[in-house]
Amino acid sequence: MWTNSVDKALRDRAEAVIPGGMYGHQSVRLLPDDYPQFFDRASGAYLWDADGNRYVDYMCGYGPNLFGYGHETIDAAYINQLKKGDTMTGPAGLMVELAEQMTAMVSHADWAMFCKNGTDATTMAMMVARNFTRKNTIVLAKGAYHGAAPWCTPVKNGTAPSDRANQVFYTYNDVASLEEAVRKAGDDLAAIFASPIKHDTFVDQEDPTTEYARRARELCDENGALLIVDDVRAGFRLARDSSWARVGVKPDLSSWGKAIANGHPISALLGAEKARNAAATIYATGSYWFSAAPMAASLETMRLIRETDYLERTQSLGQRLRSGLDEAANRHGFALRQTGPAEMPLIMFEDDPGYSKGYAWNDALMKRGVYFHPWHNMFICAAMTEADIDHTIEVADDAFKFVRDAGTLPRIEKLAILGLLTDGH
Ligand code: PMP
Repeated sequence: MWTNSVDKALRDRAEAVIPGGMYGHQSVRLLPDDYPQFFDRASGAYLWDADGNRYVDYMCGYGPNLFGYGHETIDAAYINQLKKGDTMTGPAGLMVELAEQMTAMVSHADWAMFCKNGTDATTMAMMVARNFTRKNTIVLAKGAYHGAAPWCTPVKNGTAPSDRANQVFYTYNDVASLEEAVRKAGDDLAAIFASPIKHDTFVDQEDPTTEYARRARELCDENGALLIVDDVRAGFRLARDSSWARVGVKPDLSSWGKAIANGHPISALLGAEKARNAAATIYATGSYWFSAAPMAASLETMRLIRETDYLERTQSLGQRLRSGLDEAANRHGFALRQTGPAEMPLIMFEDDPGYSKGYAWNDALMKRGVYFHPWHNMFICAAMTEADIDHTIEVADDAFKFVRDAGTLPRIEKLAILGLLTDGH
């Protein structure tokens, strides 16, 4: 029986000592009301909340969990290095090995810099591009997430208009709007930012068209600007290379995080030869950026990426989930919009402008032991099995039935209240 009394008590205490009870993407304020806020443990494909309820977890920590929580060999590499030395006065030699391995795997990259969060890597990418071009304007896709620094955080509270000076927006996959944004940047263009796929929240996902990706490359070349692909969320989930290897376009810079050490804290900026000097002459650093244990975990993660069939596996599990859910939805008279690559699924309902069907269905799934997200892309991890997927489809079937029989659906007002459905810029 699903219960949440421990979570509720923790939330009450959190209200007093944590602003808003929780902040940022880890806040469950924008999820159905009963979604657990606090978790106790995680193993493989499963997650246990503070009340001990177990979930098949399709959020994978919002991306870091690629091979399964608590992966044996990755965590052994981490622990071994932790015992030898972690945050020291300088990096361990394995920093060089990690840079060698990542640049060998990512075809556009000749050098690597390591940092902690995805935001560090996207912010450094912007600085390298500005240093390279000695220009200021960056062109970005409207609605794309690149992190939570003042220049890119989606909620403007606490930021100054000057933090977002020198930014021009385009519509993802819309070549004419990209050209128009570049024209507006005039002779001040430093970079075009692109997400590897359109993986914005609340809207259908889109693969990049070849035409759009190629045009972004050409526009950068024509203007002496740098092309940046933000692979923080999708990196190594879609390819064993930059995600834009799928469309045959090489960026100059790419930012990475999340899955590169299967959950251990490390991110990276990778770059092409021509940006090497510009990267060497910005000042970027952090107290924990050179910690050796996450680098050891990342080296083992790279080995698994190269040597296992994790990619084909997550793709086929994702396809199995997608078709099973479609069949179950049809049986109960619902139509789903399942968009994006199957291994990074986003699942929403047709005819659900207020997200209330989605919220009711996700809530029912959660209370039956499947952790889905109603408006953010999810992730398949390599620790999931066919049995987990089939179980999920069965639970989903029951949740569809529950929503169909429920009659009235909750009104979802919390989204509008926080203004997140409005243009994030
Ligand atoms: N870029 C993308 C595409 C992301 O998905 C994220 C995190 N969700 C970031 C940047 C920022 O990464 P972090 O939260 O580690 O700073």
